[in-house]
Amino acid sequence: MTDDVLAQPIRFHGGVHPSDGKDLSSGSEIRTAPLLERYVVPLQQHIGAPPKLLVAKKDEVRKGQLLAEPGGFVSAAIHSPTSGVVSQVGECLSPTGVFVPAVEIGSDGEDNPDDSLPPIEDWRECDPAKLLERVRAAGIVGMGGAAFPTHVKLSPPPNRKIDTLLLNGVECEPYLTADHRLMLEEPDAILDGAAALARVLGVRTVVLGIEENKPDAVALLRERAAGRDIEVVSLRVRYPQGAEKQLIYAATGRKVPAGGLPMDVGCVVQNVGTCRAVAAAVLGGVPLIERVVTVTGQPVVSPGNWRARVGTSLRDLLALAGGVKSDPAKIIAGGPMMGFSVYSLDLPISKSSSGILLLAPEQLFQYTSEPCINCGACVDVCPMKILPGPLSVQIENECFDDAENWRVMDCIECGCCAYACPANRPLVQHFKRAKMEIMARRR
Ligand code: SF4
Ligand code: SF4
Repeated sequence: MTDDVLAQPIRFHGGVHPSDGKDLSSGSEIRTAPLLERYVVPLQQHIGAPPKLLVAKKDEVRKGQLLAEPGGFVSAAIHSPTSGVVSQVGECLSPTGVFVPAVEIGSDGEDNPDDSLPPIEDWRECDPAKLLERVRAAGIVGMGGAAFPTHVKLSPPPNRKIDTLLLNGVECEPYLTADHRLMLEEPDAILDGAAALARVLGVRTVVLGIEENKPDAVALLRERAAGRDIEVVSLRVRYPQGAEKQLIYAATGRKVPAGGLPMDVGCVVQNVGTCRAVAAAVLGGVPLIERVVTVTGQPVVSPGNWRARVGTSLRDLLALAGGVKSDPAKIIAGGPMMGFSVYSLDLPISKSSSGILLLAPEQLFQYTSEPCINCGACVDVCPMKILPGPLSVQIENECFDDAENWRVMDCIECGCCAYACPANRPLVQHFKRAKMEIMARRR
C-alpha cells in the first residue's frame, strides 16, 4: 500500500448519507453502569454453534468465570458478568424477537473475580499461539455487530496469506457513538489490542479507518499510533463504510469478490471495540463481559454512552440514562439502518449490542407495499451492485431461485435501498425473508 492511497481514500460504489443524529451523545463521556442485582446472560451471542453450559441453578460463580464453553471451532465462550449465584437457567428474549437459552446471575454485591485467565506479561514476545488461545478463551467476538468469533477470523487456512490487519473505527451507523468515545478515551488499549492481533496474524501492515466526521479521534489516534507501525486513515463519510467489503475497498483499493471473504484479498478486519476487548483479555486477564453501549434518541432524558456488562437489560440502561421525557414511537436495538425494532425493554444486551435508539413519533417511518415504479434509485445506492427493485418483485412472487441467481445472498442488509426508495417498499425485509428461505432449502 502506498502513502498516496492512504492520503486519498477511494469511495466505494453507492451508499447514502443519512442525517446522523450523533450530536446527541458524541460529547458524552463513557459512564460506567453500577453493579446491578441481576444479569440475564444469553448463551447464543455469536455466529456459530451454541456453547455448552457448564453451570446449573444454585451454583456459585465468580466474576469472569466460564458459564459455557465453545460448542465447536466456530463458537464462543460465555463468562459471568459478576459474582453471585446462578438463579435461573432458562430463556430470554433476543432483539430479533426469538427466545434464546440464557442464564440469570443474581449478584452477591462482591464482584469477586475469577483468576483463571492471568495477564500475559510477555505478550509482545510470547508465542502468537498463546495469544490466539487467549482470544478464544476470553470469548471474544466481533463487537461491531456481526459477533463472529474472533479466534476463527485469526485462523485463516494455509492457502490464504494475510498481509493487512484493518481496524474498523468507522461507526457509520447513524446515532451510534460508542466506538467514537472509545477511541477518544481508550486509544492506547485499542492500539495494544491491535498489536496483539497483528502478532497473531504475523502481519506488519495495520491500518485504522475512521470517518472524517470524527476529526478528534483521527488526530488522537494518529498521535498515539506514531512509532507503532499503525496507519490511521481518514475516510470520507458514507454509509455503509463500516461494512467489511466497503471498508477494505475504501482503505486499500482491494475488491473482495462476490461470495468471497476479506481473507481472499489478504485482509482481516477487526472493530476497535474488539481490539479493546483483546487488550483487556491479554494484558488484564479479563474475558469479554462488558462493552460500551450508546443510549440515545430524542425522547431520552440524558443520551450518552455507558460501559455496561453483558446481561444488563435495556430497561436498566434506559433508567441509567434518566428514562424518557416523552413517549417513544419505536425502540431499536442498534442503529436506525441495521438495528432491530424491539417490543420489550426486558431483553439483555449482548457482546455485539452497540446501542439503544428511541425514536420520537415525528421520526417514525412507515413502510408500505406500494408497487415498484422502476425509478432505479435503489440501484444507484446499493453498495453491492445488486438490483434491489426487480429482486424484491421476484421475492414478492415467491421466485426464490431467480432471487438467488440475482445475488440476494450477497445483500449485506444495509438498508440503503429502502432509505432511497420513494415508494417506501420494505426491501430489506424482502431480502431477509428470501435469504432465510434459500438457506432453509439448502439445508
Ligand atoms: S440490496 Fe442489500 S446490499 Fe443492496 S442496498 Fe439493499 S440492503 Fe443494501
Ligand atoms: S427505489 Fe423503490 S420504486 Fe424505485 S426502483 Fe427501487 S424498489 Fe422500485
